[in-house]
Amino acid sequence: MTITSKLPHVGTTIFTTMSALATQHNAINLGQGFPDFDMPQKLLQYVSEAMQGGYNQYTHMYGYPALTELLATKYNSLYNANISATYNITITPGATYAIFTALTTLLQPSDEVIVFEPAYDCYVPTIQLLGATPVLITLAHPTYKINWALVQQKITPKTRLIIINNPHNPTGAVLTQTDIDALHKIVAANPNICLLSDEVYEHLIFDNLQHHSFLKYPQLASKSFVTFSFGKTYHCTGWKLGYCIAPKAAMEEFRKIHQFNAFTCNTPLQVGIARYLAESNDYTQLGSFMQQKRDYFNQQMQQTKFIAIPSYSTYFQLYSYKNISPLNEHDFAIWLTKNYGVTTIPVAAFYTTPINNFVVRFCFAKNSSLINDAVKRLVKL
Ligand code: PMP
Ligand code: GLN
Repeated sequence: MTITSKLPHVGTTIFTTMSALATQHNAINLGQGFPDFDMPQKLLQYVSEAMQGGYNQYTHMYGYPALTELLATKYNSLYNANISATYNITITPGATYAIFTALTTLLQPSDEVIVFEPAYDCYVPTIQLLGATPVLITLAHPTYKINWALVQQKITPKTRLIIINNPHNPTGAVLTQTDIDALHKIVAANPNICLLSDEVYEHLIFDNLQHHSFLKYPQLASKSFVTFSFGKTYHCTGWKLGYCIAPKAAMEEFRKIHQFNAFTCNTPLQVGIARYLAESNDYTQLGSFMQQKRDYFNQQMQQTKFIAIPSYSTYFQLYSYKNISPLNEHDFAIWLTKNYGVTTIPVAAFYTTPINNFVVRFCFAKNSSLINDAVKRLVKL
């Protein structure tokens, strides 16, 4: 069978590649982002009870109604928003799917999309798949702050979308009020520009910093698809369940596409999550829980020659290895896995253009024992 590739320049994702290499070399996998600790036991129980209790058929196309209602209540109370379960929320099979569907809903072939690099790896290929054009802006290493003057320069009559990932994977940077103000100005001056706000790490934020969800700002929310992942909030990345929140007219179009793709999502997971969410707001503790992991990891890593680049969110931290090796990031990550048994992600994988800052990304969402074992290997460098 002959296929004309729609993504001729795309290979297998770095996460799959590095995880396979970790397995092959029996390395400790601090690359791909997933927690190695237990998820809430009650949530597991509620999902099993949902299955045993017969919640095993299709649920509503927009999502299990009790769940979308609870999510509307959550965000309305967190952000004083005015989100309707009926019109604004759709449950999706993961945030990746929500991003894909949002981009498919919005983009036409001649559109330009502003993307900040390093960027989560699905954005650019999805834009290209849709025939639109990514307009790339490099975030300056090592602070990775957005240069809004540069953004202004990159805006053209064809600019249709700006993608923001806040809190940011892979850098752990978070938007400040100054960024939000800059974005307000751009949106006000350019009525054609919409926003995709990827907020999967909304609750994984440290050092008393505030998460500036776009749902909090009516002018931004009225232009935004905002995407979330239950995988990050409940330590269950393998459940692949997320959701998208958008204004009514945008969500109507989003659902037209969703209904012919997934149509609806896993029912017992949604029933279990709804029951759990109704009685627990433990997501409010998530930031301090993960901050302890970050701090423990940082403290242990001080025994090594790696140099920390501050992370304020997510479950990732970048480290410079410039005191260790002259290899480029890809080669270093492979070499480290093979020779020292610790797997990381080369940050170069989050760029379309070749770049080398001698930094790799570690995932610290791990039990202390695994972190200790990894650091024991890294101190040998
Ligand atoms: N966006 C970002 C920034 C991510 O790190 C991830 C990681 N998984 C996703 C989206 C996708 O989430 P999901 O696994 O729910 O598809
Ligand atoms: N989001 C996770 C990461 O950045 C993994 C996602 C994936 O494996 N596709 O590591």
